[in-house]
Parts: sequence; structure tokens; C-alpha cells
Amino acid sequence: QNNVQQQQQLPFQNNVQQQHSSYHQQQQLPFQSHTIMHQQESGYKQNQTNLQQQQQPLHNQPQSTFPQYQQQQQQNRTPFTGMNANLPMARPLPQKAGTDLDATGFQSIANLNPYIPRLTIKARVMNKGEMKTWNKPSSEGKLFGLDLADASGEIRGVCFKELADRLYPIIQEGQTYVISDPSARLKKANRQFTSIPHEFEITFGNATFEACGYDDDSIPPIMGNWRTLAQVSTENLIPGSTIDIIAVIKSALPVTFIISKKTGKESAKREVTLIDDSGYDIRMTFWGDYAQKSDEFWRACPVVAARGCRISDFGGLSLSSQWSGVYKFNFFNFQRCKQLYDWFHEQGGKDTSTNPLTVSSFASGTSLGPVPMSQRGALDDIQSKDLGADPDKPDYIIFKGTLSFIKTENFQYPACANDGCSKKVVQSTDSSWFCEKCQTTIPDCDRRYMLTTTFLDDTAQAWVSAFNDQALVIFGNITAAQLFQYKEEVEQHDGIFDDFIKGFTNNQFLIKARVKNETWNEVTRVKVSMVDITPLDFIAESAMILSEIANLKASLSS
Ligand SMILES: [Zn+2]
Repeated sequence: QNNVQQQQQLPFQNNVQQQHSSYHQQQQLPFQSHTIMHQQESGYKQNQTNLQQQQQPLHNQPQSTFPQYQQQQQQNRTPFTGMNANLPMARPLPQKAGTDLDATGFQSIANLNPYIPRLTIKARVMNKGEMKTWNKPSSEGKLFGLDLADASGEIRGVCFKELADRLYPIIQEGQTYVISDPSARLKKANRQFTSIPHEFEITFGNATFEACGYDDDSIPPIMGNWRTLAQVSTENLIPGSTIDIIAVIKSALPVTFIISKKTGKESAKREVTLIDDSGYDIRMTFWGDYAQKSDEFWRACPVVAARGCRISDFGGLSLSSQWSGVYKFNFFNFQRCKQLYDWFHEQGGKDTSTNPLTVSSFASGTSLGPVPMSQRGALDDIQSKDLGADPDKPDYIIFKGTLSFIKTENFQYPACANDGCSKKVVQSTDSSWFCEKCQTTIPDCDRRYMLTTTFLDDTAQAWVSAFNDQALVIFGNITAAQLFQYKEEVEQHDGIFDDFIKGFTNNQFLIKARVKNETWNEVTRVKVSMVDITPLDFIAESAMILSEIANLKASLSS
């Protein structure tokens, strides 16, 4: 007899252990989407096998084989009830509910389907949607949606009308509940309203939510098929599909408002740049209430766990928030969010250079985002404010200027081709090149820019020098070696090279420059060198100006 009982309990114990260990793996590797998907798949199969194994013990064994269930009954809890608030708790005993229960005495969310006899789940409320109302000639009413999860998976639920009114103030995001509903219906999930992959969703009919606190660590605090931005860059993602990512808001543009041509309704929109520690950044557009969070909120560079980001191939790759998406900021209950936050704010992440996945926006890989007017100077400041006069430290200036001239003589220099050197090399009589720093002779040299330009704004004109990285921005990534070769090819034809170079002028840029006096042969002159340059993003610039005008108007009227 004893042997039989032990054998019967074995699958039950295995199940608990396996679920537990698989949860811990998920916690440690939340951002390796392939691993998680694999685990979820295998977890699903596991549940199914265990279900079959459990069928016998469930029917044959006395109730004492459900120690967890008994424990739950013994705890004192305040029952939160739905429509049947005055009725006694109607949760069925597990063995009466059929064979669809998991080892904890509840139905597992992953296996919920339209044929379950009666809904009895234990789940964490991952997200509670807003109360929505509808008003049509045929009907009116209200509803809210909520995302529920247990260790097996997630599902969306919807409450309507009186039930919605009753449950909305009671249900708390993050809390775990025992939910039972004799008249719940499961129907095909509407993809328009959710990014949860479950085939079905629950329409609650007469639900009871019994609160069990926040500390159930068998259910992760947040769920998603998380990708790093490096994965976004390498996977062949289909425009229009949605993904889940965790990233830091590196910079944000001011909020703008656009009016829908279709509905005439105004919506708020805010473009931000996201980065993570995988070496990439990407532009994302937040809509609606998210976009209208304050400038201070965005400037604090929060971490977002973004569930349901729509992919667009506009300007490389970019993302946008969805009505059905869930976006949690600085959600430090989740290890990965805390880890990324610390990386960015404390471990040098904010100074890391990243590769942009979105190319046609302000996120062009330089640090010059939309610089507010208050931080900008004008070219006239160099003279009028005597910038660069301090012999101990240089001054810096950020200005918006038009490139008016590029000097075509000596625009480049022969550079050492050894990794990380780039010092100027000298040609020997045998036409090889010698690097003084590396003390080596190389057969061929590299070419690097050393550009002299002038910039104009509405106050003055100034000479500004550019090194290789900034010149590459000016020439749209044509290298100094390519340009040098072209110059040699067209040397015989007067004016061709000059005209070609002239074609790069009259473009507008946002520039950060270092200003310092330099003395050569007892003549002191002010030297302005580019530190950072980015092509002017007219959309971002206009948005910033509109926002500054709005602020000015507000300050004048108050
Ligand atoms: Zn060298």
C-alpha cells in the first residue's frame, strides 16, 4: 500500500520541481528570447504529460494529497467578490472540477480552453486596462480588460458592465488572486486588443476574485518574449509584427500632437531613442497617455519593459507603442530592468556609443539629440563672449549652422593603418610609409580627414575644423581614401573636384565645438574644432521650437 501511494505521488512532486526550476531559468535569462520560447514550448508539453499522469491520483487519493490547497484554505484572507458578493464563496473542491486541474489544485492558464467545466485559476494580475465605455444606437456599456498570468502562461480577460463596475476598484495590478467563475466563457482571442499569444480570452460572467497578496514567486512579476536590440538587428523581423523589448530611454523629443485625418481626433506623440547593453539604439514612438508623461519623466532616462512594440521599416527599423501594448517603467521587481538601469546610470552605459537601427532621425549615432534652445549658443558668441580665452580649459559651444565652405587643399592626411593608431605617416624614398609612433614601415597608408570649413548662422561666420569622424558625417560616409582617389582621377580637369565638394555645402547641421586660443609664431588666434556634428532633423527641430513657443506662451499668460 505504501509503495503504491509513493508511486502515485511521484509525478505530482516532479511537476512542482520542474516548474520551479524552469521558472528560475526564465528569471536568469529573460532577454534570451529563443531560450524562453523553447522553454515555454517544452513547459507546455510538460504540463500536458503531467496532466495525464495526474488523472489517476486526483480521483483516487483523499484530499490530503493537496497540501498546498489545504494551506491556502487555512490562511486568513479577505475575500473580494464580484457580482455574487452576498453569496458564500463558491470555489469548488478540486476533485469535483474534473481532470483539468494542475498540481496546485487550479486550472493552468496555458491549458484553458472553451471546454473547461468551470473556471478556477490562481493568477497574478499583470496589467489592468482602463475602463472603456461604448455608446452605440443599439447598445451602451462599459468594459475593462486585464492580463492574467500563472507559471504556465498568460491570458487576457474582460469584464463587462455591472461586473466591471464591481471589480474595477478591487483588482490591483501585481496582486495574485484565486479567481473562480461558474459562468466564464472562453472565446478566440481578439488580436486587436492584446499581444498575449494565448489562443483564447476569458469573458467573465460572475467572477469572484479572492486576493492572495503580492509575494507568490511561482508567477514571474512580468512576462514577455524579451529581445535585445542586437537580436532585433539580426533577426529578420516582419514590419507590422510586434515584439517585446527592455531598454533605457536615452533621449526624448518634446511631445507633439497630430490630428487623425480619418477621425479628426487629436493624439499625442513622442519620439524617444532606446538603447540597451547589446550595442544598438532604436527610435520608438510613444502615443497617447504615455507620450504625455512629463518632460522631466523622460529626461530621467527610465528603463521601459515594453510589451507589444510594433515594428516598422521606416528609416531602417523603428518601433511604436500599441493600444494593446503594456509599457512598464522602472519596474525593478524584474531583475533585467534593474540591471539595465544600473548599467546605464552607474556603469557607464550612458556614455557607450551604439549602432543606430533607425537611420533617418535624430538618433544618428552621435550624442547630439534635440538640444533645447537654452543650451545653444550662436557663432557670434565666440567673439562677443571671448570664448577660448582661458588658457587652462577650453570652452564648448553648441550651435545650429549652415556649412558654407569646405577647403579642398589638404583635406586629408596619410595615416598609419595599424589598428587604433591613425597618426600621420611619412613617405620614404622607396615610397613605403613610416609611422614614428609605431616605429614600423607599412607598404600602404590609410587616409583620414583633416577638414577646414566655414559655418554660418544668423549672427556670424566662423572657421571650424573637422576630424575624420565629423567629416564622414559631412560627406555622408564617403571615406577620405575614396575622396583622395577621386581627386587624383579628376586632377587634370579643372574645377570638377571643387564642384563636387561644393555639392556638400549649404546643408544645415547641429554642431558641438571646442573653442580654444592657440598661439603659433607669437600670433594668437581662436581655434574652433568640431566635437560632434549631426545633420539637422527638421521634424525634431520643428517639434522642439513648437514646444518652446508653447512654454513661452504659458509663461507669459501666467
Ligand atoms: Zn602608427
